[in-house]
Amino acid sequence: MSNCGPKMKMDPSLHRDKKPDWIKVRLPNNPAFWSTKSLITDLKLVTVCEEAQCPNRWECWGQGTATFMIAGDKCTRACGFCAVKTAKPDALESDEPQRVAEATRRMNLRHVVITAVARDDLRDGGAEHFKQTIEAVRQANPKIIIEVLVPDFNDRDWALSMVMDARPHIFNHNLETVERLTPLVRSRAQYQRSLTVLKKAKAMVNGKVATKSGIMLGLGERHDEILRAMDDLIAHDVTVLTLGQYLRPTQKHLPVVEYITPDAFDEYKAIALAKGFRHVASGPLVRSSYHAADFRPELDVLEAIEADVRASHGIELGPEHLALPAINPSIAKTIA
Ligand code: SF4
Repeated sequence: MSNCGPKMKMDPSLHRDKKPDWIKVRLPNNPAFWSTKSLITDLKLVTVCEEAQCPNRWECWGQGTATFMIAGDKCTRACGFCAVKTAKPDALESDEPQRVAEATRRMNLRHVVITAVARDDLRDGGAEHFKQTIEAVRQANPKIIIEVLVPDFNDRDWALSMVMDARPHIFNHNLETVERLTPLVRSRAQYQRSLTVLKKAKAMVNGKVATKSGIMLGLGERHDEILRAMDDLIAHDVTVLTLGQYLRPTQKHLPVVEYITPDAFDEYKAIALAKGFRHVASGPLVRSSYHAADFRPELDVLEAIEADVRASHGIELGPEHLALPAINPSIAKTIA
């Protein structure tokens, strides 16, 4: 097993080593962090929080949330930004879906994000394993909102439809970067293919899923290219967007060409909302799953999923599943 670094194609001298003040990693100060850590260890689960060296893990784990990474900790791709190791993957663990389900139950999660390494060694790219995990989680915890962050399954419709048949509430597939930089930043994935996958996933369930995507900034993309990527996502029916700062995991990875200021992230958020995204998380430390529970799919999506799950699996999701998000207390006070 080796941590194969990506092929460097960008000029490494572009890297800006000194992090600005706004890139601050908070250290654990909360016992919940350690109980999340021991639960994950007990259940022998893998998280993208650790594998991708996410800067938010102290905060998220301290709040009792984590993002589960299924299908192993070795990826068949070698993207230039990603800290997950590239190696020949192990066989799938047939009890992993149940272990993820048990974790959501013990953590009493209302919203779970499940991701996976790219499994190009498997004909279905790991789609069946995603399906089993969604079903196990829902069985253990019917009221939960299920978000999947998936690879592109090499654009195989039959694999994608396996995942969609399990009726996740939120289908997340990251664009990662603008079109021009995609060949330098992503391994094998293609910009247009990712857009197509997002559009097809939604069409497969007659629009009854929220689709979400994310872009890292600071890799040398231009302002106009970011706006173009937003337009492309909107044109492919994506309604939730995340924008965060790329941080270099090791010296073998792509350089950080620019640190985007918090004000610029705020401006991009305003632009994205004006373009029609329903929910945008934008900030230096925003990652795909950061504060994921802040977004809740529309009522018609929740209702359609409830009806489908009841009909196909006989599971009642219950009224809590359809409950609208808690109203902001200050607004409640005004209304009262
Ligand atoms: S932002 Fe996502 S990947 Fe990072 S620690 Fe939080 S849950 Fe884990």
